[in-house]
Amino acid sequence: MTVYRHEFINVLLSIFSMSHFRFESKMNIDPLLLIGQGSPELQGDGYALVPDAHLAFQEMSAAAEKQGIKIMIVSSYRSFERQKQIWNKHFSNYKKQGGSDKQAILKIIQYSTIPGTSRHHWGTEIDIIDAKPKVEGDVLLTHKFHDQGPYNELRLWMESNANQYGFYLPYTPDEKRSGFKYEPWHYSFAPLSRKMIKQYLTLDLPEMIATAGLGGSNLLDENYLKNYTDSHILGIDPILL
Ligand SMILES: [Zn+2]
Repeated sequence: MTVYRHEFINVLLSIFSMSHFRFESKMNIDPLLLIGQGSPELQGDGYALVPDAHLAFQEMSAAAEKQGIKIMIVSSYRSFERQKQIWNKHFSNYKKQGGSDKQAILKIIQYSTIPGTSRHHWGTEIDIIDAKPKVEGDVLLTHKFHDQGPYNELRLWMESNANQYGFYLPYTPDEKRSGFKYEPWHYSFAPLSRKMIKQYLTLDLPEMIATAGLGGSNLLDENYLKNYTDSHILGIDPILL
């Protein structure tokens, strides 16, 4: 009798774990969330992050504050619409200067992403500075995070501590990396963004972008986006893949 009961429990356990497994594999993220066209739950005061990333950020910034560093987020969640405004504004400015569509796009992607391809759409990414030093002009400049720069201490603290809160640099100074330049200010909440990129890579990006009303979208075809994915989207620290 005891043996039977034992087997019965085992069968129940295996059914549970199988169904649990199926449930897990079906837990796909809404494709619209991956391209900034969904309505994610966002939290934060003066910034917007998905709840788990927000909680981890709060813990990390509390720890930094004890060391005299006041982490301030200057950019977090960004919607497709916002990125599209930025894109189309730059595109028409370059066109007014007499450039071709191709030249305009090449200029824009030096420092901006194609709408639908920004990691900032995920609510897991932060661009940060230290709010304590008084800084004039643009803040997100590499030299301000190094040597005698006002954010050097913030960079050093993040390099030693961010990983333990789940935050990693996608755009490292590794010269073998392709795509975007080194961004010492941009951190990604890896426990979520690793899942995001996995599913992101399964999307039909050309289809989504072709119909979105972007300047120069006729050039953003399948081949172009395939190359952009390889160089820019996958051109991150492999620890985030
Ligand atoms: Zn960023």
